[in-house]
Amino acid sequence: MRVVIKIGTSTLTYLNGNLNVHTFENLCKTVADIKNAGNQVILVSSGAIALGRSKLGLSERPADIPTKQAAAAVGQSELMCFYDKAFSEYHHTVAQVLVTADDLNGGERSINFGNTMERLLSLGALPVINENDTVATAEISVSDNDTLSALVAVTVKADLLVLLSDIDGLYSADPHKDKNAKLVPVVEEITPELERIAGGSVSGVGTGGMATKLHAAKICMQSGCDMVIANGSAPEILYKIIAGEKAGTHFIGKKQ
Ligand code: GLU
Repeated sequence: MRVVIKIGTSTLTYLNGNLNVHTFENLCKTVADIKNAGNQVILVSSGAIALGRSKLGLSERPADIPTKQAAAAVGQSELMCFYDKAFSEYHHTVAQVLVTADDLNGGERSINFGNTMERLLSLGALPVINENDTVATAEISVSDNDTLSALVAVTVKADLLVLLSDIDGLYSADPHKDKNAKLVPVVEEITPELERIAGGSVSGVGTGGMATKLHAAKICMQSGCDMVIANGSAPEILYKIIAGEKAGTHFIGKKQ
């Protein structure tokens, strides 16, 4: 199976921007094992701005673009350093890939991107993708890694995209406000009603929320790729997802 796994800032780091070592190590161990079992994996990882902010000693997540970009530049190398160290323990080789929206719009650069991914996967490497935040101005920015990971999944013709988040999946109402909210196990179509329920962002440290996740699901489903939203606080959930067992919310890709 070819699977793209997106991991969000709120799962990888604490609110102060420091790495959540426990979750991070479990994620890397599980991904290494899934690769060992013969699956092809591409990681889309957020966390650059948060880690950069922590390393630069900034007391809050930056709000202005130049400081965000500066923090991303510092944090991206920190992020890759952590991935390299963790995956090396299991003899896996990581490959940093930074892209902007222009690289994934179906043009020549998307083809180059796709070719590089094929080659990296055939060489057994583990691509770790993030947006190239230091140059991604509003015009060329995908802006959130939920959408970015869906564009990646479609470009590489993945079988599955998994969005690991700080929430168990899509709920019938906002679970922070409504205690009767129920987890939706399967979605076959994104309806306006679902989009209304999804609303805005629920996370304080990343940029994605349920609305961007539904947008990602739309991109995937149209191209025949399945998508799962699941809670990343226990990354071992990936075993269940890859085995096709019930976990989180499963969006069924349109069969072509
Ligand atoms: N690219 C950003 C980062 O690495 C995060 C984008 C997102 O949270 O969706 O910090």
